[in-house]
Amino acid sequence: MALGAASDSELAESRQWAIKKVAGGLMIAAAVLVLLITGLFDLRGEPYPPATRIANYVLCPLVAAFGLFLLRTPRRLPLWLANSIPSVAAVLICLPTSPNQAADALSPLLLTWPVTYAAAVLSARVAWITAGVAGVVFAVLASLSRGVDGLVLWIETAASLAVVCGMVVRVQNQSLRLRETLARLARTDPLTGLINRRGFDEALAREHARRLRGGPPSALLLVDIDHFKTVNDTWGHPAGDETLRLLSGLLSSTFRATDVVGRIGGEEFAALLVDCVPQEAAERARDLCDRVRTRAREWEHPITVSVGVAASLEHAPTPTELMASADAALYAAKAAGRDRVWIEP
Ligand code: GH3
Ligand code: MG
Ligand code: MG
Repeated sequence: MALGAASDSELAESRQWAIKKVAGGLMIAAAVLVLLITGLFDLRGEPYPPATRIANYVLCPLVAAFGLFLLRTPRRLPLWLANSIPSVAAVLICLPTSPNQAADALSPLLLTWPVTYAAAVLSARVAWITAGVAGVVFAVLASLSRGVDGLVLWIETAASLAVVCGMVVRVQNQSLRLRETLARLARTDPLTGLINRRGFDEALAREHARRLRGGPPSALLLVDIDHFKTVNDTWGHPAGDETLRLLSGLLSSTFRATDVVGRIGGEEFAALLVDCVPQEAAERARDLCDRVRTRAREWEHPITVSVGVAASLEHAPTPTELMASADAALYAAKAAGRDRVWIEP
């Protein structure tokens, strides 16, 4: 049974938001920082070498402008562009500052920015690529400009980048696993292991979207145990719980892997039959009703169920309308004497 994850698009949206806003903010902050430091060296009368100085004064406003563009643009960034930003940033950070002896401390520390950004917002792969690009470019420039001293600085820098990258990737992986566990728990009924109301509503919404795109017809079955209160009142709640678990197992084994089955209330279950015309839905609902009656005779506390069926064929009723139809059918099945199927309309 498919577990609901309608928040996928929300997650993608918030990731796009983070990709643009965090990158934009970091670019502006880095540009302002480098301009400030370049200006301070100028004021102290010990300016950077001309090439570095001009590069800083030309590149920083461009980087800040691109950062501002990222902050303001409503457009989605193509993934290839988002993934290349950290590596380009790493090269830019290495280039102007590395040949300058006075700027030793600035360049390696700034390299942690694109690596951390890539690991926290993009992916582990992009983070390691960024760390690799930074390490290689820094190694070349540092050894060219400072010989053995450069090698020492490179070892420190490469090791620090690897540590930062590994740590952030690890924290990200942990938080991803935690998010997945929470999402699964939030959609799972602990008693039966079926999806709960939240998960089922999400599945209904996805099915509705599919129907609007011209997908095959589907049907909704609401299944309610008859006189379940009597089971609890007579044999106690643990017996009622066991009956709910037995029925869940029966429902799971009865429906197809493409159908969605959930426990949407106390003793109320729902099944979304995908690619199923109304006539087939009615037959399968009757089969289910018979199967529960027959199989439950072997249980310690036999039960029967009533089933309400609603189908979406010509039009795609909203999930709320579909649910209301199935609910009306279920009420009708109860009113007609229980242990039976009712079909709407
Ligand atoms: P009807 O045929 O009209 O559906 O009658 P009913 O007794 O099944 O319906 P009613 O709504 O009167 O009672 C439902 C009962 O389901 C009452 C409640 O105690 C029980 N119930 C709800 N959730 C659970 C649960 O998690 N465990 C147990 N054991 N009982 C539950
Ligand atoms: Mg009931
Ligand atoms: Mg009920």
